[in-house]
Amino acid sequence: MKGSVIIVGAGIIGAACARTLSRRGLDVTIVDAGASAGATSSSGEGNLLVSDKGPGAELELAQHSLRLWRTLAPTLESEIGRDFPSVEFERKGGIVAALDAQQSQALDLFADAQRRAGVDAQRLSADEARYLEPELSPAISSGVYYPEDAQVQPTIAAEAFLASARAAGTRVLVNTVVTGPLIDADGKLAGVVTSSGNLAADDVVVAAGPWAGEVAQVLGGTLSVGPRKGFLLVTSRMPRRIFHKVYDADYVGAVGSDNHDLQTSTVIESTASGTVLIGSSRQNVGFDSGLDVAALRKIAAKAVRLMPFLLETSVIRAYCGFRPFARDHVPVIGPDPAVPGLWYAAGHEGAGIGLAPATAEMLASLMLGESPAVAAAPFAPGRAPLADSLARTT
Ligand SMILES: Cc1cc2nc3c(=O)[nH]c(=O)nc-3n(C[C@H](O)[C@H](O)[C@H](O)COP(=O)(O)OP(=O)(O)OC[C@H]3O[C@@H](n4cnc5c(N)ncnc54)[C@H](O)[C@@H]3O)c2cc1C
Repeated sequence: MKGSVIIVGAGIIGAACARTLSRRGLDVTIVDAGASAGATSSSGEGNLLVSDKGPGAELELAQHSLRLWRTLAPTLESEIGRDFPSVEFERKGGIVAALDAQQSQALDLFADAQRRAGVDAQRLSADEARYLEPELSPAISSGVYYPEDAQVQPTIAAEAFLASARAAGTRVLVNTVVTGPLIDADGKLAGVVTSSGNLAADDVVVAAGPWAGEVAQVLGGTLSVGPRKGFLLVTSRMPRRIFHKVYDADYVGAVGSDNHDLQTSTVIESTASGTVLIGSSRQNVGFDSGLDVAALRKIAAKAVRLMPFLLETSVIRAYCGFRPFARDHVPVIGPDPAVPGLWYAAGHEGAGIGLAPATAEMLASLMLGESPAVAAAPFAPGRAPLADSLARTT
């Protein structure tokens, strides 16, 4: 055995890390305050995207993660058996549609830069876009097709990672809140104090999603990660009328925006069960889970502008989740710069499902002293942009 690790948080990030670390020979315990996959990881759409990322570290991580996802479905099946539900991996591709000449120009520039970074981004005329997605509005001006974009069912994917981790020896403790650090006689972090007693380990990984900043603080570390609220609408089931993930060109701007007020941009896609998911909003309002009718109305109105047939469909459900948001919009993967033994895998914002496999791989490489497949420095917890933003907000 190479050492023992406690992972705080059994969402998709913690579960993916538990799978990889236990399969790399570490003795892993994963602890969650609630149920596994019961928080943010069950609130999202499950898109695995390169289309919404401009050139840079996060795009590189996403490209690597997508490569890993392509082989994960059969690998997971061999690890946990065929009776486990499918993660519903589907390489459906994404289409970004521009609604006027200005959006077309901005989208073309963005896609040019992505192509230079190795993304398959194919320009579409309005007619070509409507040929691929016949329900797109006649008002669209152009589009870009991203054949690499894919989708999974996020809750099943998180549970599949956890089942694989269990099969490799991981202990899973649910309904167990981590409340403080366990400190040894030398003053070093030696595990965690929980609502069910003390747990000792060589290392502790905080994978607590939007609560990661709070958990880091409780354990004596510093991490600038908090919640960014997002709503989704779900329609009743229908025969398949949407074949790709479809979104408007505003979406890319909203993902990286620092605006704390309500922002909405359209993301529409069908699921294997026949429902259509319509997103989404972004709002920095802490953990306020209240229903915001104005936000839902805005999401619905924008979706109808992109795909007018949606006006005739009924919404059966609306819900919100909290994206784990790092102040510079880049995930945080690596050791706390000041607390030996404390590690982070957090801050994945609206991309944690997509980035989970590469995050787990990077964390394992760093913990085992190996060189990661994707450069880890831009994700380091002690990086300058995070430290600067922390200094500004405290
Ligand atoms: C509306 C919406 C749409 C999204 N769409 C997508 C998408 O299409 N594609 C994509 O890739 N991502 C998407 N995301 C983002 C994605 O869901 C997240 O990035 C991802 O789920 C984060 O996973 P996590 O494991 O870090 O956090 P979580 O799933 O929140 O897990 C963290 C866990 O930590 C536990 N925890 C917290 N505090 C403690 C404590 N003190 N002790 C013990 N346990 C604790 C919590 O109970 C929780 O279970 C979306 C998010 C939202 C809100």
